[in-house]
Amino acid sequence: MQIRCSNPACGEKFDRAFSGYACTRCGDLLEIAITCTPDGEALKAEWKQRRMSNEPADTSGVWRFRDLLPEYDAGDIITMGEGNSVLVEGLRTAEYAGVKNLHFKHLGWNPTACFKDIGMTVAVTEARHRGAKIVACASTGNTSGSMAAYAARVGLTARIYLPKGKVSSAKIAQSIDYGAEIVEVDGNFDQALDGLIENPDPNIYFLNSINPFRIEGQKTVMFELMDQLDWNPPDYVIVPGGNLGNSSAFGKGLEELHALGMISKIPKLIIVQATGANALVRTFLAGGKHLEKVESPHTRATAISIGSPKSWKKALRALQFTNGLVLDVSDEEIAKAKVLIGRDGIGCEPASATTLAGLRRLVASGEVDPKASFVAILTGHVLKDPDAILEYQAQEVHQELAYGAK
Ligand SMILES: *Cc1c(COP(=O)(O)O)cnc(C)c1O
Repeated sequence: MQIRCSNPACGEKFDRAFSGYACTRCGDLLEIAITCTPDGEALKAEWKQRRMSNEPADTSGVWRFRDLLPEYDAGDIITMGEGNSVLVEGLRTAEYAGVKNLHFKHLGWNPTACFKDIGMTVAVTEARHRGAKIVACASTGNTSGSMAAYAARVGLTARIYLPKGKVSSAKIAQSIDYGAEIVEVDGNFDQALDGLIENPDPNIYFLNSINPFRIEGQKTVMFELMDQLDWNPPDYVIVPGGNLGNSSAFGKGLEELHALGMISKIPKLIIVQATGANALVRTFLAGGKHLEKVESPHTRATAISIGSPKSWKKALRALQFTNGLVLDVSDEEIAKAKVLIGRDGIGCEPASATTLAGLRRLVASGEVDPKASFVAILTGHVLKDPDAILEYQAQEVHQELAYGAK
């Protein structure tokens, strides 16, 4: 493997030990280049076979795909069996969206109850490999919990920067429980993150999603999904968009599977943002040359309340590669969709419900074929933000939904 600039027109290469997050030549984010070219069909068989094994690296839904990940000695991997999320069929949700074939892949069913674990297992493994003693991140609450848990497994100090008053109490409590050092920042997530980026500290390894090792872990979501579907890709994969690490990772994963001839069809990626934090939507509409920031992002879906998404260029590349779509939905649409996901017995935190809200909108406007197949990625567990449920479901609209109206 190799670290290189993610801008193909630049392509600058970096040493394995390089600790910056941006290209020193052009300023774009970095990525990990996989330099091996295994036989795709043999890999499919190998990955399936590993599910029979009880070795920790094989029972992990990330490290099972290690052939396309940065290399470590088996004993150096820090894993808690992350990944491995089943596909659950959408019932009332499918009806609500107006489609026939909807499945949810719930990444909230991970060790710390959100998808961040899938990237953290790689990034914290890398942190220890580099000899780091302190890891840090800015977070709307989920990155911090995940980082703190994996850091605790190997005695690393986890320092987390949280925007004051903008993180759910459940998420703060979780980070405290894993022993994190918490710094509350006056300001929003973007300001907390920029504060860290602008003041690099050589003693601290930085684990926000601009860290390319996290993206490596997260790309395996697409590997696992295709394996679960016996390598028959769905027409669409729907994902919430915040800082856009996940969208970027899914695009990279699909590019790699395609390059190895493992998928004959490329699912289209649908990225859904909240209206109050819709920088990618604005950027896309403006032609994609520059990031159109949202100065004061606001949405009840706090996990995606981000105005200056750092991975916007990578996300645009994912949209281009998959011929995908991007849209935004209101907090009201998110809240209604979240109720339906709960009524399917699945549940999720508000940010995840953007997926169903977005699908419903695209079907209603005729932009997607209701007969197509859809996989919606749910990113965080229902218990991550219980206040969101209590605030909303006392309202009238819940009554309408409960008594059978649309
Ligand atoms: C982090 C997070 C997101 C946003 O993911 P990005 O990779 O930043 O786009 C969405 N939902 C939940 C629950 C999250 O924790």
